[in-house]
Parts: sequence; C-alpha cells; structure tokens
Amino acid sequence: MKSKKDPHTNRLGLYVGLLANSATWSGVTAFIVYHPEFESMGHFIMVIFGILYAFISLSLCIDKVQLRIYLISYILPISIAYFTKQGSDNVYIACLLWASTVPVYRIAMMHHREYWSLFHQAYLLKNYSAKLAELARTDDLTGLMNQRSFNQIFEQEIQQAVESRQSYGLLLVDIDHFKMINDSYGHLTGDHCLSQIGLILNRLIEDNIKVARYGGEEFVILLPNATEEKALALAETIRQNLSASVFRFIEREFTITVSVGVAVTYPQQITDAQRLFQFADEAMYAAKAAGRNRVALYQ
Ligand code: GH3
Ligand code: MG
Ligand code: MG
Repeated sequence: MKSKKDPHTNRLGLYVGLLANSATWSGVTAFIVYHPEFESMGHFIMVIFGILYAFISLSLCIDKVQLRIYLISYILPISIAYFTKQGSDNVYIACLLWASTVPVYRIAMMHHREYWSLFHQAYLLKNYSAKLAELARTDDLTGLMNQRSFNQIFEQEIQQAVESRQSYGLLLVDIDHFKMINDSYGHLTGDHCLSQIGLILNRLIEDNIKVARYGGEEFVILLPNATEEKALALAETIRQNLSASVFRFIEREFTITVSVGVAVTYPQQITDAQRLFQFADEAMYAAKAAGRNRVALYQ
C-alpha cells in the first residue's frame, strides 16, 4: 500500500503561497502609502490585514524559512515604504510594524503547535486504521488473503457471477501428509514451508486472480469467469510446480505434493458460495482418495 506523505513535508506550497501573499499585500500597501487619497482607509486595512495575515500564515507553517519570508517580503517593504515617505506618523507606523512581529510570532507559535499536532494525529490515525484493515485482511504466515477476507470476496463475486450469468471456478489446494512434515522436521519447518508455498502461489498466479490461505495447509484460488479447461490447467500447473519445488530450512531439504479439488459452476446451474466450496472440497477429497498428488474435478 502506498503511504501518503507526512503533512510536515508538504511545506513548499505554503512557502510559495506566503510569498505570493506577501508580494500582493506589499504592493497594495505601497500603493496606499504613495496615494494620499486612500491613506485614512489604507492604514486601517493595513493594521487589520497585517495582523490576520501574519497570524494565520505563521500558524500554518512556522519555521525559520517562513519567518524570513514574512519579514523580508512583507514587513521590510512596507516599513521601507513608510520610512521613505517621511513624516513622524509614518516612521512611527513603521516601528510599530516591526515591534508587532514579536507578539504575532509568539502567539502564532503556540497556535501552530496545536494545529500541527492535531493535523499529525489525524494523519497517524488514518495510517493506523489503514494498517489495521490490511492486517485484518491478511494471513500472517503467508501474506496471502486470510479466510475472513476470502469468505467476503467469494460471496460477493459469486453474487456478481449469478447476476451477470457468468461461470465461476474454485480451486482448493491441500498439502498431502503435511502433518508428517511437522512431525519429522518440526513446526518451524512446517511454517517456513507454508510461507514458501504462499510465495510460489503468488508467483504462479496472475495478478488479477485472488488466492487465499483458507486454513492450516489449505489454499483457495478464485476464478471468476473460468471454464473447466482453464481451471483444470491452472490446478495442474500449481500441482506440478509445488511438487517440483525443493523446500530448504535449517539444513533440511524436502519436497511436498498437493491434492487439488476443482469446481466450476455455469450460469444455468446457479449456485451459492457454500455449495461451490463444498463441491471443490468434495473434489479435493476425491483426489486424496484416488492416491493424492493429483487434480480432481467435481462432476
Ligand atoms: P492429508 O494428506 O490427508 O491432507 O494429510 P495432512 O497431514 O496434510 O492433513 P491433516 O488434516 O491430518 O493435518 C494437517 C496438518 O497441518 C496438521 C497441522 O499440524 C498442520 N498445520 C496446520 N496449520 C499449520 C501451521 O500454521 N503451521 C504448521 N507448521 N502446521 C500447520
Ligand atoms: Mg487439510
Ligand atoms: Mg493436508
């Protein structure tokens, strides 16, 4: 899952906005200062707007760069405009403007901390909930979809297949005599083997096909819109690849085989998710009964 940028890293936009804002209002101020007809109203606008502007923008993103932008692009040109215009009132306004930067900065600093800490908490919460949702969907050992997620998706897809009158296939892969692997080499080796099988299945199966760990040593593959031929071909590919794989763990080497049950429903035999699963399960047990290490189709 793509992780979103931390809001603290997205400051460039604020700097640019601040600069544009400063430039605009410095221009307006200079215009007011040099056009006496606007002067009485202009001073009032300057005081109100200057404080609001400084407070809001400094609160959003306070750091040295931002403070410098504020001082150089806003306070400096305005105070130069007032100083160069002469008259004791104007010098007084320019000095006041510089003096105001200290309290504005301090208040903004307090507000800024609260603002960013709320923003940051909201961001963390969103990230945590996305991570939790991901964990709830995934099997720890194999990284595949877990049974809960499989059940949900399987139900939905069967519903869609029934509505759009499309076929649907399900493969149930069960490792043969897996208990013997645990008994002979230990459960850690068994776990390692299961996680490797997860990787192999992921590699073998196309991106748009969903694979899940259904239970202990059982895996399911969902095949919307599949024909019997396609489902059987994929089942055979999986069986052959898994039986040809050599599993290694702590200086031990072993191979495994699997039995695969295949069930496909067609639009005319409308069924539900449980029944299709039961068909695949029966086919898998038929493969076991016929001697294991094989694929069986539910008839
Ligand atoms: P069969 O060919 O009939 O399927 O035999 P099997 O031994 O594979 O089947 P059985 O159902 O008798 O045993 C399944 C074994 O899978 C038993 C259990 O210890 C093991 N198993 C299930 N989940 C895990 C797991 O997460 N880790 C490990 N190491 N073993 C597991
Ligand atoms: Mg089993
Ligand atoms: Mg088994």
